[in-house]
Amino acid sequence: MSAEPPPPVPLDNRFARDLPELAVPWRAEPAPDPRLLVLDESLAAELGLDPGWLRSPDGVGLLVGTTVPVGATPVAQAYAGHQFGGYVPQLGDGRALLLGELVDADGHRRDLHLKGSGRTPFARGGDGLAAVGPMLREYVVSRAMHALGIPTTRSLAVVSTGRTVYRETPLPGAVLARVADSHLRVGSFQYARATGDVDLLRRLADHAISRHHPAAAGAERPYLALLGAVVAAQASLVARWMLVGFVHGVMNTDNMTISGETIDYGPCAFMEAFDPATVYSSIDHRGRYAYGNQPAAAEWNLARLAEALLPLLHDDEEKAIDLAMESLDGFRRRFDAAWSTGMRAKLGLPDDVDQAVVTPLAEELTALLAAGRVDVTSFFRALAGAARGEVEPTRRLFPDPGAVDDWLTRWRALGPDADGMDRVNPVYVPRNHLVEEALAAATDGDLAPLGRLLDVLSAPYDERAGLERYAAPAPPDFGAYRTYCGT
Ligand code: AMP
Ligand code: MG
Repeated sequence: MSAEPPPPVPLDNRFARDLPELAVPWRAEPAPDPRLLVLDESLAAELGLDPGWLRSPDGVGLLVGTTVPVGATPVAQAYAGHQFGGYVPQLGDGRALLLGELVDADGHRRDLHLKGSGRTPFARGGDGLAAVGPMLREYVVSRAMHALGIPTTRSLAVVSTGRTVYRETPLPGAVLARVADSHLRVGSFQYARATGDVDLLRRLADHAISRHHPAAAGAERPYLALLGAVVAAQASLVARWMLVGFVHGVMNTDNMTISGETIDYGPCAFMEAFDPATVYSSIDHRGRYAYGNQPAAAEWNLARLAEALLPLLHDDEEKAIDLAMESLDGFRRRFDAAWSTGMRAKLGLPDDVDQAVVTPLAEELTALLAAGRVDVTSFFRALAGAARGEVEPTRRLFPDPGAVDDWLTRWRALGPDADGMDRVNPVYVPRNHLVEEALAAATDGDLAPLGRLLDVLSAPYDERAGLERYAAPAPPDFGAYRTYCGT
């Protein structure tokens, strides 16, 4: 510990103050040899944190949780959750800490949170630690999602700890510093509901309304409005995932936020060959969280949120259930609308083309992509070329190029806007083989491939010469991709 004055980081602790029943004050484990591997300087600046200071020993101490600013109350958060459909009454931050909240000049409050900072009372059998590879993976994929314009928690930094983490093999340990509008999850509400303390449930809902869905406060039924707002945020979020081929991989209720941010990048991956049954997670044997099941999984999770909120919706349980069902019905409508709007943009179709034309055209396309197992990112990007008259690169993506001709003719007759397409169809997404390559190099101490990958992914819509390999799918010898969570 240094004798220097504590770091100048004004961390508030409103979560711990408002909801002490969900917050266990706790401290990070010491890191024997902390080294900053990556820092998102622009995010630091957004948060009012000086990147130069964050690189100093005290700054790095903050990023691993060993230097705690005066007045901060780091806590492990309690939550419950359905994991692959089975209810676990107590999960909580087993290897994470909420350091506190940073409030910007506009009053926007954001959590500063650590993952991999040591065992907490919620650790169960876990070691409380995280390895460099998986923490960098979250850093890379969350950065890509943000650059794609998809709501997500952000990664501020990854610091290697100098501690060895034992998985199948010994690995270098790391802590990820993460920033989010909050870490409230569906599982937070399940936990509060299960305590039977309606006052706690109400305080949690009030906290969520004030932080994420303030308009609900003025509604006739604020808690029903909160449910509706979360349904809307998640419908929009999952539609955004679907439009870029993102597979979250572990959509348990403890991994679904109230804010509508993507959270917990574990066994996630970007789909290449289009197939709704795509699963990457090594533990998702039944494909519960397969690409094509994600909207249904989100809807299921939201039903769990609605159940948890029932006592706040109406004194009469029957009436509360009716209100909840009506609100949940909004999910499909909103998801379909968000997906259709997104597809219209991806296809570059002007507003005056009737939705009754766009929807079947999009459905026909997904069937063609599935039949040809076409790389989705390459397809939509190449399609802008087809709108400009260069159809060959698009045709060549299909094993039988003639299969898409009729579709292309009908689509081109609608007058697609190629430049508009280039603004919504990314050239660069985190290709699984490139992510693995960068993480393997970083684990061995070479950060250069990671730096290049981050640079490419930070501007996903701008095609740049010389970066062709970042735009191409994995070579066939990469094989079937498997991802692991909880590592
Ligand atoms: P996840 O699947 O990463 O969302 O984690 C599910 C639960 O397991 C959460 O309660 C985590 O805090 C906990 N957990 C995951 N990995 C570890 C670990 N290595 N040590 C302690 N708890 C963990
Ligand atoms: Mg989680």
